[in-house]
Amino acid sequence: MNPQQLNFLSNSIEFLKQDLGRDEQILFLENCLKRLQETESLKRSELPELAALGNARDPKTHDKWLTKLCDLLQQNQQRLWEKHGEDLQRFPMLVRRCSEGGAGNETYFELEPIDPSTEPTIQNLNSNQNNNPQLTAIKYEAVRLKRTPWYLKLCNPLFESRRTRVWLLACLLISFWITPLVISAWLVSVQLYGHLLYPTFLWATITLSYCLVWRPIKNLLAVALRKVTLLEHVMSPYGSICISEVKKTNQCIDSKYVKRELTSFDLTANCPICHRTHKITKSISLEKQSLFNSRLIGVCVNNPLEHRFSFDKDTMEGCKIN
Ligand SMILES: [Zn+2]
Repeated sequence: MNPQQLNFLSNSIEFLKQDLGRDEQILFLENCLKRLQETESLKRSELPELAALGNARDPKTHDKWLTKLCDLLQQNQQRLWEKHGEDLQRFPMLVRRCSEGGAGNETYFELEPIDPSTEPTIQNLNSNQNNNPQLTAIKYEAVRLKRTPWYLKLCNPLFESRRTRVWLLACLLISFWITPLVISAWLVSVQLYGHLLYPTFLWATITLSYCLVWRPIKNLLAVALRKVTLLEHVMSPYGSICISEVKKTNQCIDSKYVKRELTSFDLTANCPICHRTHKITKSISLEKQSLFNSRLIGVCVNNPLEHRFSFDKDTMEGCKIN
């Protein structure tokens, strides 16, 4: 592995950090990359010696950690290539292989440079437009992968096919309407009406219900119906979203049989106007268009009223909204 490939994979680990796991796993993966810089392949039996000292693990665990990195590189290939691939000609894909035939076969990991997927980029789009495209088109950039909330992860298998999605939708709609009735019935049963504590108790119940029931249901409904939802996070400076992505296949497929998977990440973009005028970067954050319109749009923090852009989850591009 050459230094550029090592740099690319180290940056990819940083990007995928939240989904890869704890510090111990990250340290182990970084050690694996360093070893791959010296040798062509990494055998499964060599993995335990690359783990952090003092943490004895089952050999299967190390195999699982490195396999997860291979899977995430595969899934996020295009995003990673756009973000860190400028110094490379080919994507340095890490692959898990099993040697065939004979006794003493072993699983091993090696680097396999592949041609990056070539989707249309914003530069290509701009070259086809004459109407000052530098100020009207933007390209969103995934900053880092996020941990998908537990309730979305739990329902992930149900998002895969159309039939299971319809079942999930029916259950969610029923829960959405039944929850307030259950809470009201419960409040009546504990007989707190007229009691001094009632307002506090009611407030606490409604807040708890919102966090534990309504918000997850709203997000699940949004992913099932609109295939994208905003994961509001107070601590994050960027817009966090969860997308129901189409699983990639090499053949044409009827939309009825399309399989999907959920991916969450932080997203940002350069506002072309503020970038040109003030050299401000990464000023676009995703928001709902308004309280009554749940369409997601990119809003510039420097000029939230005028610098607003559409957001297309499939092309990761947008145009200025007038
Ligand atoms: Zn701006």
